[in-house]
Amino acid sequence: MSAKIISGKEISQKIKDELKVKVEAMTAEGKQPTLAVVIVGDDPASHVYVRNKKRACEYVGIRSLSYELPAETSEDEVLSVVEELNNRDDVDGILVQLPLPKQIDDDKVIKAIDPAKDVDGFHPISVGNLSIGHDGFVSCTPAGVIEMLKRSDIEIEGGANCVVVGRSNIVGKPVTLLLLRENGTVTMTHSRTKDLKGVCKQADILVVAIGRAKFLNSDFVKEGATVIDVGINRDENGKLCGDVDYEDCLDIAGAITPVPGGVGPMTIAMLMNNCVKAKEMK
Ligand code: NDP
Repeated sequence: MSAKIISGKEISQKIKDELKVKVEAMTAEGKQPTLAVVIVGDDPASHVYVRNKKRACEYVGIRSLSYELPAETSEDEVLSVVEELNNRDDVDGILVQLPLPKQIDDDKVIKAIDPAKDVDGFHPISVGNLSIGHDGFVSCTPAGVIEMLKRSDIEIEGGANCVVVGRSNIVGKPVTLLLLRENGTVTMTHSRTKDLKGVCKQADILVVAIGRAKFLNSDFVKEGATVIDVGINRDENGKLCGDVDYEDCLDIAGAITPVPGGVGPMTIAMLMNNCVKAKEMK
């Protein structure tokens, strides 16, 4: 048996097309959403991410404003840009591209963003809302993981055994909370977990976010399980790859996400979704 390939590329395209229709209608009513993107410094990867986000905005019809600040910008200067954007009525969502240069405290900047404009979902208020089950912004990668499962008709509710590998604030923890919210039975694992292989092997749904190229092979996967690979790494030949050994798992998994073309594009689609939500919540 060969696994069904869950294409984040296709699913995210569908989401963006749905949002495009919605944004057209909002724009016709004078309610076009606006996203302000702040980037500090010249990190090439961050510039690629920001460019992709702006392209997605253009496609969906969201207005995007760009604040490109030099690498030596001080923390106070970034905070004052955030403050200005918080106060602007024509800005619905604020995204500060992370990581910031070392003289700036990421946490301080995230906390300065108005929670009503926190489309990245990293503000402690957004995280708190998620953990107590209140409505609010959910960070984009974890939201994308759940959306992929739902749109691929993979049942979470009804006792699905979910195992999340990795417990970071940006992926592992929120994915765990979201799976729980969908009534999955969830185990969160990390670098200190004993018998990781054995725990993973119990999973009907296995979500992996550890940042180690091809770490999980078929020995970790139960026959027929769904494998969602969040990792983005480079292999020994410099080629993009996930945390899962995709080729090795193809015959045992029931469904699997590729890298690239899996969770990555979903993240941007969910950011667009959060921008529309920010405007709707106003
Ligand atoms: P972090 O480095 O913040 O967290 C990694 C987590 O994995 C930690 O909880 C760590 O455990 C755990 N871990 C590390 N090694 C092992 C191991 N051998 N066994 C079990 N657990 C382990 O990473 P992120 O969550 O930020 O990112 C994870 C991956 O996802 C990266 O490849 C990143 O590039 C990718 N990513 C992709 C996104 C996308 O849009 N597709 C978005 C965000 C991230 P411990 O806590 O014990 O140290």
